[in-house]
Amino acid sequence: MRRIQVVATGGTIASRSGAEGRRATVLAEELVASVGPLPEGAEVSTRDVVTRGSYAFDTADLLALAREVRGTLRDGADGVVMTHGTDTMEETAFLLDLAFDDPRPIVLTGAQRPFDDRAADGPGNLGDALAVAADDAARRHGTLLVFDGFAFPARGVRKSDTMSAHAFTAPGRGAALRVVGRRVVPLWQSVPSPRLPLDLDLPRLPRVDVVPAYPGADGLFVRASLAEGAAGVVVAAVGAGNAGPELVEAVAEAVAAGHPVLICSRVHSGPVEPLYAGGGAELQRVGAIFAGDLSPWQARLLLAAASTVPGTSPAAVVRAWLAGRDPSSDTGS
Ligand code: ASP
Repeated sequence: MRRIQVVATGGTIASRSGAEGRRATVLAEELVASVGPLPEGAEVSTRDVVTRGSYAFDTADLLALAREVRGTLRDGADGVVMTHGTDTMEETAFLLDLAFDDPRPIVLTGAQRPFDDRAADGPGNLGDALAVAADDAARRHGTLLVFDGFAFPARGVRKSDTMSAHAFTAPGRGAALRVVGRRVVPLWQSVPSPRLPLDLDLPRLPRVDVVPAYPGADGLFVRASLAEGAAGVVVAAVGAGNAGPELVEAVAEAVAAGHPVLICSRVHSGPVEPLYAGGGAELQRVGAIFAGDLSPWQARLLLAAASTVPGTSPAAVVRAWLAGRDPSSDTGS
């Protein structure tokens, strides 16, 4: 018997429509009841943690969800399914992926259409997520996000459509598993990312802001963010990792003052590389860290989590993690 714990947190999958707009009100038991037959040999229990839209979560909420998963794994569950709003699901999935080194499946899912929609996609997605969580093929993939018949490893997954039921993609990476009629079909075995020694009992993660680049972007937001106490910033750079001269100057100042700066792209797909004189090449020269194909939103959590690791610099932790090394064994920057 596989013991699967459903941890419900709200989102569209749990929402009904009303005069003020959609509101998450549906609890875990009703969500599971909507799925139809459960995976053979699975015993499903439910727990409601919060019932909210994920657009309202902060890092204190994300850590609370991670503690919930930790408790569930410690209690001996064989798999965890978290129902969650789609807006920030890629962030929660990534934080769980950073936090846990466990072969048991941790699976997030949700919906684009609310529970009371005649064509609700939540029951199908939750049924697929339960099938994945109960299947051996889902072990050792790290945290997975199951949506519209595909299971994506957390690193690199992005919400890529605001409305479509095919809401998520993993540009340049793809899905690791497919679910066909509740049957789990392995596509490839992903290599789980290194874990971070993240203290889940912290009240919240340190502030890290995402600063966008665009024609005419200056250093205002980088300086304002650091003045507000940010541990570092992530630049959502243009193209393959470029920014204009004033933003580059503010990044140089930030790094010189000891604040790590990560470079990602505002482009939906592809890695960043320090290619252009005065742009990306200059950002690298002044000490910014190029974050591969990580989205600005996942990179922000990586840097925030790295800033909590004792005994080493956040930049060293980030560099080790990006290189696929165990961050806790790295020192220096
Ligand atoms: N659109 C969102 C959802 O799918 C709202 C949220 O993130 O909670 O659930």
